[in-house]
Amino acid sequence: MFQKILYPTDFSDVSQKALDYIKHLKEAGSKQVVVLHVIHERMTEALYWHALGDSLIKEWKKSVKDGVNQSLMDIEKELKECAFEVKTIIKTGIPLREILQVEEEEDVSVIVLGSHGRTNMEEMFLGSVSEKVIRKCKKPVLVIKR
Ligand code: ATP
Ligand code: MN
Repeated sequence: MFQKILYPTDFSDVSQKALDYIKHLKEAGSKQVVVLHVIHERMTEALYWHALGDSLIKEWKKSVKDGVNQSLMDIEKELKECAFEVKTIIKTGIPLREILQVEEEEDVSVIVLGSHGRTNMEEMFLGSVSEKVIRKCKKPVLVIKR
């Protein structure tokens, strides 16, 4: 039923917990995982507000991308060890928009994500990304609680 999973991750503890659940979905017949990280465009813009030189900005972006790449490779390795077929995607933009676009493009069967992410504010019932994804996506969603 949940052959192809979309796993959007911000590498937070809660999304790591979601990964543990995904591994168990293998037993339920899941075969493929699309792992997606969105580098928030706000972050790139913030660099310009500080009027940093172009070469410094370039260096910064590269180190962020290298870090993201490494984290995605680690997740890919973990999932491959569980015999999943894995595709990793990095996008720059608004997380909600990119998640919805990959949902369509990859024609996934389910989205698995954390209820909260890096902010993980105590009083919040859901994080803003998970709330909007649940509201706007078309496919079933499995929300892993913190
Ligand atoms: P907020 O961002 O609203 O301050 P939060 O960080 O606690 O709150 P969300 O950002 O909504 O919560 O995170 C919920 C889940 O959404 C995460 O566990 C992760 O699965 C997914 N997610 C959040 N941000 C991203 C991102 N940049 N790229 C991919 N997935 C993300
Ligand atoms: Mn967040």
